[in-house]
Amino acid sequence: MAPGKFRGLCPFYVGHLSAFGPFCNAYNYKPEYMHYARLTGAILLLLLSACRSTPSRQAALPTARNVILMIGDGMGTSQITAAMLTKGSPLAIEQFPVAGIQKPHAADELITDSAASATAFATGNKTVKGAIGVNARGEPLRNIIEEAEKQGYATGLVTTATVVHATPAAFFAHVPLRNQYEEIAQQLAGSGLDFFIGGGQQYFTKPSPNGKKSVYEQLLQQGYEIESYQNKLLSQLQPPPGTPFGYFTAEDQPEKASEGRTYLPDASRMAARFLQQSSTEGFFLMIEGAQIDWAGHDNDQDYLISEMLDFDRAVAAVLQFAERNQETLVIVTSDHETGGYSIQPGSSQDSLVAGFSTNYHTGTLLPVFAFGPGAAHFRGFYDNTDIYHRMRRALNWQE
Ligand SMILES: [Zn+2]
Repeated sequence: MAPGKFRGLCPFYVGHLSAFGPFCNAYNYKPEYMHYARLTGAILLLLLSACRSTPSRQAALPTARNVILMIGDGMGTSQITAAMLTKGSPLAIEQFPVAGIQKPHAADELITDSAASATAFATGNKTVKGAIGVNARGEPLRNIIEEAEKQGYATGLVTTATVVHATPAAFFAHVPLRNQYEEIAQQLAGSGLDFFIGGGQQYFTKPSPNGKKSVYEQLLQQGYEIESYQNKLLSQLQPPPGTPFGYFTAEDQPEKASEGRTYLPDASRMAARFLQQSSTEGFFLMIEGAQIDWAGHDNDQDYLISEMLDFDRAVAAVLQFAERNQETLVIVTSDHETGGYSIQPGSSQDSLVAGFSTNYHTGTLLPVFAFGPGAAHFRGFYDNTDIYHRMRRALNWQE
């Protein structure tokens, strides 16, 4: 770049000769021509990089039309390392250009759970463990799906747990205790959610205690198309965009990937395409790899790695969508680490020696990976509540 053009853009530029000349003279520096040219070149590069990080440049980050938030439940950096070593080829997240670090603690305890963490992502507020979409006093908090719905966005959730489990629930429900599954199912019916795939059919088909229709019947009445693992494979379905859609993958918890569960990558791809065609405004989609956490609770490394690789296939499917779509911000992160998992001495690439320090969650910092327009918002070191604020900033929503 010509120095003249550069000068006009950069407020720090004061002229390389006058600014650095006195410094050189003071140290009795007598530059030869080539030396001097190299020095000025280096200074220009420094000034250019200083200009690139000015706030005005930050404000001009591209805006995302769609956001896909992918949560590896219980996924710490050791879990990612184990998947990377086992896979033998790069993980999908290795293609993400931006990485950050987030702090997962809950409002009341250092060691958090999925309920408090997902509430932080969905609402931007710290809350107590076990709380879904409510603050520490039990008061409901506005969540990103409610905001998206209000603005005409399409919204969806995909999980390998039940649809009423803590992580997805925090994106549409408001209850003080995460195990209020029937109440959470009931609140899905009023959420405006356009697309959901996960287990937990039983919480929807049960007749209501007060003689009201089951949530399943209420959803049909609201115009949803609901399908079930009992009748159809997901691959047989092509839900028409614009008609809200739900698919139950199990009566209760879906099976393990190692037992034949394969739907997460297909469901993620289907969700992104469906939501893209369902709104002209944009969409918000949350995808959860839930059973990485359960493997950590079981201290079972094989289970853990197979769930990590399944989640990686879903990340790859989403990345493929986002690369083509160009308007979608993809974020991959975790709610907490589970198991205190580590790769122990004596390990080789094809034989990892597992160490677990607990059968519960740990308080370790978590990675965040971002791809697509607005990804640069996710650089740095921040609180888990900031995921919510940074998603809104990437969407250019007013605070
Ligand atoms: Zn857990």
